[in-house]
Amino acid sequence: MIRLGLVGHPIGKSLSPLLHRAALAVRGLEGSYELFDAPDDVALARALDELRAGRLQGLNATVPHKQAALAACDRLSALALEVGAVNTLVVANGELFGWNTDLPGLLAAIRAAWPGRGFQRALVVGAGGAAPAAVLAARALGAEVRVWNRTHARADALVARLGTGQVAAHPEHSDADLVLQASSHGMDLVGAAFEAATMEARAIIEGTTAHAAVVDLVYRPSPTAWVTAAAALGRTAVDGLGMLVHQAALAFELWTGERSELARDDVADPVLTRAMGLALG
Ligand code: NAP
Repeated sequence: MIRLGLVGHPIGKSLSPLLHRAALAVRGLEGSYELFDAPDDVALARALDELRAGRLQGLNATVPHKQAALAACDRLSALALEVGAVNTLVVANGELFGWNTDLPGLLAAIRAAWPGRGFQRALVVGAGGAAPAAVLAARALGAEVRVWNRTHARADALVARLGTGQVAAHPEHSDADLVLQASSHGMDLVGAAFEAATMEARAIIEGTTAHAAVVDLVYRPSPTAWVTAAAALGRTAVDGLGMLVHQAALAFELWTGERSELARDDVADPVLTRAMGLALG
């Protein structure tokens, strides 16, 4: 019996329980994936204590605890240190090990969508918690990276902390062949607000190359504003579901030592279809 979970706040709409319960079922493993809603550090510490005491075998951390989870770990993977965030925790001999599967999950999603393709110029939109993984993924793909964020000072700070990339002064003239939309722009919008977000996305995507690849880390609503705008301009685009599935598959492997099979289309598609149905109510 393996006990896994997710700590964050708010987490009621998270798709992770469906993904990991499906992964357990596909592997024939008896176990659970529980939600630890942690609005503050005390609640976070309680969930981490469960892990340290061996009552939990694996934990995901999400917003707003990815940095606090990093600080709480006894050992960190090189990637977690570089990204500055931990989303997957494992316990061994009472020690907490912190990993980051968002970055390899994003890379895997990009490679799955555009197999064998190289990129030269990436535009990363956003400078919050998800942006470092996007910047480092773009760099790992060989692209020169520019970052644009609504609050310019946060883009400056991100580029300075990572020591790579540059701030984009004019995102609408990026000439990028890869766009990684790592902000919350467009998330959960409907009606006129969604249309407005789509037009804003369009203004930026118009300045990319004709064959640019667009990845929107957002996945609700479906299609997202950025995917809608990209498709209207003839660019190929994917939303954040691929990244979500791949980061979950990697976390599952770290916890169980078993390949999760989650990223297999015949497993991922029905799980995600059901998950999206539930998430959208
Ligand atoms: P975060 O730390 O709260 O940062 C939010 C970012 O979005 C900031 O850069 C913020 O800009 C920007 N933003 C918010 N509202 C905006 C708006 N109306 N217009 C323009 N920019 C806006 O969030 P995060 O953790 O980075 O997550 C960002 C998005 O990525 C979320 O939608 C999240 O669901 C998604 N995500 C997906 C995955 C996946 O597996 N697919 C993984 C991680 C995150 P300011 O600095 O100006 O506030």
